[in-house]
Amino acid sequence: MSRVAIVTGGTRGIGASIATALQNEGYAVAAVYAGNDEKAQEFHGSCGIRVYKWDVGDHQACAEGVRKVEGDLGPVCTLVNNAGITRDGMLHKMAVEQWSEVMRTNLDSMFNMTRPLIESMRERNFGRIVNISSINGQKGQMGQTNYSAAKAGVIGFTKALAQENARKGITVNCICPGYVDTDMVAAVPPKVLESIIASIPVGRLGKGQEIADTVCFLTRRETAFITGSIIAVNGGQYIANG
Ligand code: NDP
Repeated sequence: MSRVAIVTGGTRGIGASIATALQNEGYAVAAVYAGNDEKAQEFHGSCGIRVYKWDVGDHQACAEGVRKVEGDLGPVCTLVNNAGITRDGMLHKMAVEQWSEVMRTNLDSMFNMTRPLIESMRERNFGRIVNISSINGQKGQMGQTNYSAAKAGVIGFTKALAQENARKGITVNCICPGYVDTDMVAAVPPKVLESIIASIPVGRLGKGQEIADTVCFLTRRETAFITGSIIAVNGGQYIANG
């Protein structure tokens, strides 16, 4: 039987690259999305990966969704917590909805998706969890107090969960992408994007495949000694200690 992976936000952007890369590694993959049925069906049609619609900010929906995936594909050994949104604005102009939508999608989702899977991973003495944070969770970004706080939270979540599960064969790691060429970055005004690219030493945006390759590396059996790591994949834009 194939190993089973869940990739949240797996139908578009970075998540779609991660889902197809894991499929190429031999996984049966479940790609979770929020509401863009057209993109999800297009993605399913292109590669055959099963798509599932639920809100990762909704605890009950995640528990039910995980049960459905396990019924369809079998026990999940790999979880990639990738789904994320931005609702940018300076804090002095930010509405409470902008704050809470980002918190529930980007941070509550870590608990909501991991909680229904972690006990069975512990029972089987094996698991691979990769959480997608952001360069802006490491360095902070003006106009993104909500996003930077949630993504910094993902880093803390990763470090604590890694310690809790290290003796159980479960690794928990975090990738902090820099700016990657996806719909999320396409929403950045062109002038701002130009200045962002100018600040990347490698001189270009990242590619979804480059994040996906890092996920594949971290999910291999052979990388069992890498846990609690915060891995920057950002073209040298921000060189942090963790
Ligand atoms: P995209 O906007 O391209 O895709 C987002 C994906 O997440 C979609 O599949 C979307 O579903 C899904 N999603 C959004 N909200 C929910 C929800 N509540 N429940 C379930 N699924 C949801 O994002 P990116 O590929 O650009 O980003 C992926 C991750 O990488 C995010 O966590 C982001 O913060 C992070 N990141 C991205 C960077 C970049 O430069 N792009 C840089 C650093 C970090 P649907 O299609 O239905 O909307």
